[in-house]
Amino acid sequence: MDVGAGTRDLLRRDRPDVESNSKILAGPRPNGATLGSNRDTTRQHNLSTVLGLVHSHTELSRAELTRLTGLNRSTIAVLVGELVQLGLVLENEPDQRQQHGRPSIMITPGPSVLALAVNPDIDAVNVALVALGGRIVNPVRFHTVAPPSTAEVVNIVSAIYTGMVASLPKDQRVLGVGVAVPGLVDPVDGTVIEAPQLGWQEQRLATQLSEALGLPVSCANDAIVGARAQATFGAGREVSDFVYLFGGASGIAGGILSGGQLLRGATGFAGQLGHTLVRTDGASCSCGSTGCLEAEVTREELLQASGVPADLAEELEATILELFESGTASESLRDLVTRQSQLLSVALRTLVRQLNPSLIILGGFLRILAKLCPSVLDEAVHAAGARGEREHVTIELAPLGEDPVIVGAAELAFEDLLANPARALSTDATPTAD
Ligand SMILES: [Zn+2]
Repeated sequence: MDVGAGTRDLLRRDRPDVESNSKILAGPRPNGATLGSNRDTTRQHNLSTVLGLVHSHTELSRAELTRLTGLNRSTIAVLVGELVQLGLVLENEPDQRQQHGRPSIMITPGPSVLALAVNPDIDAVNVALVALGGRIVNPVRFHTVAPPSTAEVVNIVSAIYTGMVASLPKDQRVLGVGVAVPGLVDPVDGTVIEAPQLGWQEQRLATQLSEALGLPVSCANDAIVGARAQATFGAGREVSDFVYLFGGASGIAGGILSGGQLLRGATGFAGQLGHTLVRTDGASCSCGSTGCLEAEVTREELLQASGVPADLAEELEATILELFESGTASESLRDLVTRQSQLLSVALRTLVRQLNPSLIILGGFLRILAKLCPSVLDEAVHAAGARGEREHVTIELAPLGEDPVIVGAAELAFEDLLANPARALSTDATPTAD
C-alpha cells in the first residue's frame, strides 16, 4: 500500500454523503465526519479515519496507521485503544514469522458488529451477515421459482435473519441492513422506483424490511453498491477514477468513481452503463430504447449457447473457458463470444472517452469476454485514449461470484458506524424501526 491510497481514504471518509443510497433510520442521523474545531470533533474524525483504514485494509500495524494518517504514535495508540474498547478492532499477537525488525502488533476489524446484506435477484434472494473488513460470515442463497415480490423478499429475509440471530454469540450484534437492488432506487427514501426484471415498480422495500426486522435499512442500486465495494476493498482501492461494469442475470449494471467520489448525478440515477448505446439498429431494451449494451450482451444467450442451465449459472465461466480450452466450443458459441466482446468494446470506448478512467473493472459474466477476447477490449480502450501513454487505461477483473454486491450492500449498513464509531454504537443501543 502507499501513502496515496491512505490519503484518498481520508478524503473519502470526509464525504460520506456522496454515496448514492438512502436510509430508513431507526434513530437520529449522525452527521458525517468532518474536521471540526473542537477536540471532540477532531477525536471523532480521527476515530472514523482509523476505523475506516482498518476496515478497508483488513489488517494494519500501528506504524502503518501512523504513516497513513499522519497522526503521531501516541495518538494512534489512544485511538486504537478506544476502538478496541468499543469492540470494533482487535489487537492481535505479533507475527513471529516476520523476518526483519521487531514484530508488529497487527490491528484487524473486530467481530462484534455485523451488517445484514440482502440482494434480491430474478431467481433467488441472497442474504448474508457481513463483519467489518468485508468478511462474509454465513451467506445463504434462497432459490425462488419466479422473481420474488417485495413481500416475498421481506418474508424470506425475516425467516433467514431470525435463524441467523438465534445462533449469534451474545457479544455480536447486527447494526442494520443494506439491500442491493437490480433496479432504480430513490436515493431519498429507499423506494425502488423500478426493477424491470423483478417486475417491481414504486415498491417501498426499505420501509417494509425495516418494519419487519426492527433495524435501519438502506437500499441502493446493485451496481453502485458493487462499485462501492470495489472502491473500498477491491481493484479500485488504489485509484480515484474507475468504471465498474457487472454483468448478471438482471442485465449489465455499472458504477463510476470519479475524482475519488461515486458519481450519482443530480437525482442519484447516474451510471446506468447498461443502457449505453452499442448498436443503432439493435434489440429492444427493458428501458424502452433499442441497442443498449444490456439488450445486446446478455448472460442468457451465453447460457443457451453453452448449454448451462440457469440454476447452474455460477458454473458458466468455468464451463465456457473449458469448452474453449479443449477446442470443443461450438461455432455458435464462438461467434456469440466474439460478437458480445465487440459490442462490449463499443461501450468501453464510449465510457473511456467520456469519463477518462485509469481503470476498468469487469465483473460477473463480462469476465468471460475479457478472458477470451482480451485484445478486442484492450484495443478499443486504447483507441479511445487520444493522448497515448498519458491516458493509459487498464482492465482488471472483479473477483468471481456475486460477493462484491453482498459486501457492498453491507457497506450501506456500516456507513453511520464508519462516519462516527462512538456515536453510532451509542444511538444503536435500542434499535426500533420508524
Ligand atoms: Zn436500455
